[in-house]
Amino acid sequence: MIASSPSNHPLGDVSNFTRTGKPLDTACARLKSAGLRITRPRIAIIEALIRRDNPVSIEQLHQDLADDACDLVTIYRCLAVFTELGLVRRCFFHNGTGLYEINLNDSRHHHIVCKTCGKVERIDASFTENTERILCERGYEQVTHLVEFFGVCPDCQKKASATRPLSSLITP
Ligand SMILES: [Zn+2]
Repeated sequence: MIASSPSNHPLGDVSNFTRTGKPLDTACARLKSAGLRITRPRIAIIEALIRRDNPVSIEQLHQDLADDACDLVTIYRCLAVFTELGLVRRCFFHNGTGLYEINLNDSRHHHIVCKTCGKVERIDASFTENTERILCERGYEQVTHLVEFFGVCPDCQKKASATRPLSSLITP
């Protein structure tokens, strides 16, 4: 068990702690069962990922962890271990940046990322699961995929049309 209470919690945010307490236990149990040590940087990284609850870049994670003195190398190493373990999933932003997301309950989903504001929403992954099943039936093994969707979200569209000059609305 990890001795952690709001008062000695390294990230110090009580409301976040109560929200992330249980997922953190799950993550630590996964580390333990894989024979991995539960270290302070590992906990800090997992907590930051749980708080984000969305894909995050290494740079954003590094900023989140500024108070925990987690250097980039440590973050890279931990993420590599977590990804190997399936505790973290890697996905990609439209510019090719690798993003990392906590994966505690193996929920299969994809993302739609707004190209304007970067907002990420989850979408159902049943269509790719179906494709994977078909490929396995065709005799393929170890089938993996990378699927992400990119678009401009309704909010950004509204903002764009609100700031658009009147002249652009008049068709010649
Ligand atoms: Zn947007």
